[in-house]
Amino acid sequence: KCLTVELGERSYPIWIGPGVRQKLADLLQQAGIAPGRKLFVVTDQNIAPLYLEDTVQLLTEGGYAVHHFIVPAGEEAKSLAIYEQIMTEALTIGLDRKSAFLALGGGVVGDLTGFAAATYMRGVAFVQVPTTLLAHDSSVGGKVAVNHPLGKNIIGAFHQPKLVAYDTNALTTLPPREVASGFAEVIKHGLIWDASFVTWLEENADGLQAFDHELLQAALLRACSVKVAVVSQDEREQGLRAILNLGHTFGHAFEALTGYKGINHGEAVAIGMVAAARLAERLGLAENISERTVRVLRQYRLPVALPVPLDVDEMLDVMRRDKKGEGGKLVFVLPTAIGKVDIYKNIEEEPVRAVLAE
Ligand code: ADP
Ligand code: ZN
Repeated sequence: KCLTVELGERSYPIWIGPGVRQKLADLLQQAGIAPGRKLFVVTDQNIAPLYLEDTVQLLTEGGYAVHHFIVPAGEEAKSLAIYEQIMTEALTIGLDRKSAFLALGGGVVGDLTGFAAATYMRGVAFVQVPTTLLAHDSSVGGKVAVNHPLGKNIIGAFHQPKLVAYDTNALTTLPPREVASGFAEVIKHGLIWDASFVTWLEENADGLQAFDHELLQAALLRACSVKVAVVSQDEREQGLRAILNLGHTFGHAFEALTGYKGINHGEAVAIGMVAAARLAERLGLAENISERTVRVLRQYRLPVALPVPLDVDEMLDVMRRDKKGEGGKLVFVLPTAIGKVDIYKNIEEEPVRAVLAE
């Protein structure tokens, strides 16, 4: 199945389903990347042994001149040092403006490869072949970046892919914690926009976690559609797009203070969405939503409380400095009901403290 992302003048397809990768060469051609052109496949050390060889073979058989580059697995790969290695390799193998960069991997490989594509010779075509559930989130919106030692995603750009080919078959090898982490953002897309999607996720939790491909396809289509709806109304993050940050102000603080190690992104966001629901209740903005939020996250084996205690003052400091924040104020996306959120730009410290101390 295909979802078309329309952003202003441009649009690109997101193909989702079992076996999509087998059709990659055709999909590339449809997306305007003609055979004969050079393709630069970037992947990581965990994904390479699983999916690199057959992907390269499929593309070569499709008539493309394929080169590849393997980066270390994990967030550390999103560095200027690895970015420079990619540039050096790209120049060495003679990629030109007509070449395309293809990210075979999760959010890390996607962000890194996308940023390389955005900047190589001032921008070349970018294709995403996501291998994680979480990457559904980064497959829409065009944000690409690498990290700086002083901040995550600080060096980046907006660069839309020409094509996203999402093969649900490639998700079956994901480690269980990565599966759960991906579902956190899927659930988030329900919680911010679509109460009936949340109900559907509650009803199909078992099937989805057993990798039922029809259900996975439906879940990813729906989650991506929510993101498309939000991003297409606000491509450059002026207003509405901020609602995608549900659970993220808290979550980023949890990630930062655990040194991006103890918990992964989806887990931090899950705990953050529970905190946001509790804060909304405390502020009288919503009633009886934290209980259901906790329940659905638990269904997907996600944590709903911090595994280790963190210092409340330090968390508040990090949240005031959040990139999305404004002038040291505490800005939060808070639920007003299941499937509905609002942006609150000046929340008092006291209730936040109370929620963090719970
Ligand atoms: P995301 O940000 O999308 O969660 P990452 O790029 O951080 O993705 O990937 C999470 C981890 O899972 C990494 O260690 C990566 O190597 C590994 N990984 C990604 N896709 C797969 C897959 N399909 N099968 C097994 N491991 C995978
Ligand atoms: Zn996120």
